[in-house]
Amino acid sequence: MEKKQMIYEGKAKQLYTCDRDDVYVMRFKDDATAFNGIKKAQITNKGALNNQISTILFHQLHRHGIKTHYIETLNDREQLCYKVEIFPLEVIVRNIIAGSMAKRLDIEEGTPSSKPIYELCYKNDELGDPLINEDHAMALGFITEVELRTIKETTLAINQLLISLFDRIGITLVDFKIEFGKLPDGTVILADEISPDSCRLWDKITGKKLDKDRFRRDLGNVEDAYQEIFNRLHEVYHD
Ligand code: UDP
Repeated sequence: MEKKQMIYEGKAKQLYTCDRDDVYVMRFKDDATAFNGIKKAQITNKGALNNQISTILFHQLHRHGIKTHYIETLNDREQLCYKVEIFPLEVIVRNIIAGSMAKRLDIEEGTPSSKPIYELCYKNDELGDPLINEDHAMALGFITEVELRTIKETTLAINQLLISLFDRIGITLVDFKIEFGKLPDGTVILADEISPDSCRLWDKITGKKLDKDRFRRDLGNVEDAYQEIFNRLHEVYHD
């Protein structure tokens, strides 16, 4: 599938049109940003690793009945995906309290939650991606109550699947962010990516952080951490 024109460039990925109207090519970059784009760097090989990691995770979710935009992996940095209209929402689940929630509510990072915590943020760089609830999302006018219900149910199911999947490779899924989109026929499906850029992943035995916090917090060895996640996933889930 030949790429044609770049139609979107985000912080970590690009989207291209191609020969087919209903699909696009998603390309993973090595660029890393944090704190709403204030901190920037290149992480060698990150794009290729995230492409492979996300491929494995989307395959596994698909096998368990989750509808996604993923069609196939084209090469080390590119995937073919169905074209969707992305909802401007960051859908977050937390199993262990960390990051912005630990800070905002002054809860010690690492405190387990008795049930998964479901959060929505409005994707808007100018506003700094504010935390919102479902009523706010509807007031913004880009989503219906039924679509929100589908997103919440699907997200909680994805959380359970990802928890077990990572558990098998000795990793605790602390939290993650996913994005959803809408096909032309109105079906709401999982889009974007799932990778160490968008999840907090802690080694079950050592507690070592194997995710983007190594970059955000200057912990070093970022590429090694992403490689470690890929190696462990690849060993168990090479289908
Ligand atoms: N996250 C993300 N993109 C964002 C914000 C958050 O992928 O723009 C992910 C982040 O990697 C973590 C989860 O969502 O796995 C929860 O992030 P949090 O709200 O704690 O924000 P952060 O600490 O990244 O500011």
